[in-house]
Amino acid sequence: EAHVAAVEALNPRLNAFITTTPELALEQARAADDARAKGEAPALAGIPIAMKDLFCTEGVRTTAGSKILEPFVPPYESTVSGKLKAAGAVMLGKANLDEFAMGSSNITSGYGPVENPWQRADGAKLVPGGSSGGSAAAVAARMAMGATGTDTGGSIRQPAAFSGIAGIKPTYGRCSRFGIIAFASSLDQAGPMARTVEDCAILLREMSGFDPRDSTSAERAVPDFRAACERGVKGLRIGIPAEYRVEGMPREIEKLWQDGIDWLKREGAEIVDVSLPHTKYGLPVYYIVAPAEASSNLARYDGVRFGARVEGKDLIDLYERTRAAGFGEEVKRRIMIGTYVLSAGYYDAYYLKAQKVRALILRDFQEAFGKVDALLTPTAPSAAFALGEKMDDPVTMYLNDVFTVPASLAGVPGMSVPAGLDAAGLPLGLQVIGRHFDEETVFAVSSVLE
Ligand code: GLN
Repeated sequence: EAHVAAVEALNPRLNAFITTTPELALEQARAADDARAKGEAPALAGIPIAMKDLFCTEGVRTTAGSKILEPFVPPYESTVSGKLKAAGAVMLGKANLDEFAMGSSNITSGYGPVENPWQRADGAKLVPGGSSGGSAAAVAARMAMGATGTDTGGSIRQPAAFSGIAGIKPTYGRCSRFGIIAFASSLDQAGPMARTVEDCAILLREMSGFDPRDSTSAERAVPDFRAACERGVKGLRIGIPAEYRVEGMPREIEKLWQDGIDWLKREGAEIVDVSLPHTKYGLPVYYIVAPAEASSNLARYDGVRFGARVEGKDLIDLYERTRAAGFGEEVKRRIMIGTYVLSAGYYDAYYLKAQKVRALILRDFQEAFGKVDALLTPTAPSAAFALGEKMDDPVTMYLNDVFTVPASLAGVPGMSVPAGLDAAGLPLGLQVIGRHFDEETVFAVSSVLE
C-alpha cells in the first residue's frame, strides 16, 4: 500500500509509469500474504516492482513506449515477467521507456519524457537515462523496490548510473527474450535494476533460466548470485582497459575510476592494465547492427497485425500511413539506417563489415579474459544531463553509449554500480564487465564498489 501510494503521489511529476496497476498490485500482495501465512512464501513474495513496458504482460496494456501499439493488450505473458510473478513479486505498473527502447534519455517515448528524481542545484530537470529510464526513476524515487529493464546497448546500465542505482545486463542468453518486444534480437537482454547490488542478485536469480521458447536462451544452471556478493575480491585480477580513457571525460569520472581501483586493491585484488584495441569501433558497429535488426523486427507493425491503424486507399497506403503516424522520429531514423545498411549493394560494405568487426570486439574481450577475471570502467562518460541538452543531434546522444555497447556486442555481462557523486551532487556509476556466464564474479566485484 505504501508503494502504491508513492506511485500515486510521485508519478504525475516523474512520469515513470505509462500504466499503473494498483488493484492488481494489491491483489498480488494479498496473495503473497496468504502464501506467507501458510509458510509457503516464494522468494519474492510481496516485493513491489516496476515492469519495463517492453515486457508483454497478459491482460495489461503494453506499449513499448510507442503509439503504434496502442491499444495492445497482450494475450500472453513474457517468460521473465511470468517468472517474477510466480516468485511472488507484485507489479506496480508498466515503466516508461524510450520508444522501442531506442534512446539514452527517455525523450523518445511516445508517452512523454521521464524526469530523474535527482535534482541539480540550478533546478534544471534531468533525464533519468534510457532506455529503461522509467524503471530507473521508479527505483530511485522509492516508488518500487526493484524493476526490470532491458539492455541492447546500455539501457540498463546507463540509466542505473544516471539515477544512482544498481543494474546488471546479464550474459546474452541468461534471461529468456520470449515475450519481450524485440529491438535488436542479437543484443537484447533483460536484467534487474534495484537500489543495491545484492537486490539485483536476488532479482536476477528469479529472472534467469533456460526457456525452450527462446532459441538463444542458454541451458545453464542458475547460480546463487546472492551468495556471490559475499565472496570478496581477494586474489582476483581486475583489468583496466586503456581504450576507455577517452578524451574529454570529466575529471570526476576519472577520479571515481581511480577510487574504484584503490578500493579493489585494498580488498586484495590485483589491478592489471589491459587493452581492448577495437573499442573505438564499438559505436559504429552497434549503430549499424542494432538498426539493421530493428528495421527487420519493426516490419511487423503494419497496421494489420497489431495496434493502431490508419486507413488508406489500398494496402500499401494503409501501411505507409500507419507507420508514418505511429512511429516517432528516432524509430524512423533507425529503420531508415537499418534498411539502408541491409540493402543490396551496401550490405557487404556496412552490415557484413560490421559483423566482422563485431567478431574482433568479442575476441578483444576473450583475450583480456585470458589475463583477468573482470574489467572495471566507468558506465557513462557523463552524469545525468538536463532535459533538452544533447537533443539536437542524434550522434551526440549516441556517444553516451561509448562504454556500454562493447559488452553488448560481445554478449558478456556488465553491471553498473552506484559508486559516487560528481561535484554537482549527481550520481556516477562504475561498470564491472565479466566473462560469459560469470555474473558471480561481476556481483563479487560490484559488491566491493558500492
Ligand atoms: N542507447 C542505445 C540505443 O539508443 C541503447 C538502447 C538500449 O540498450 N536499448 O540504441
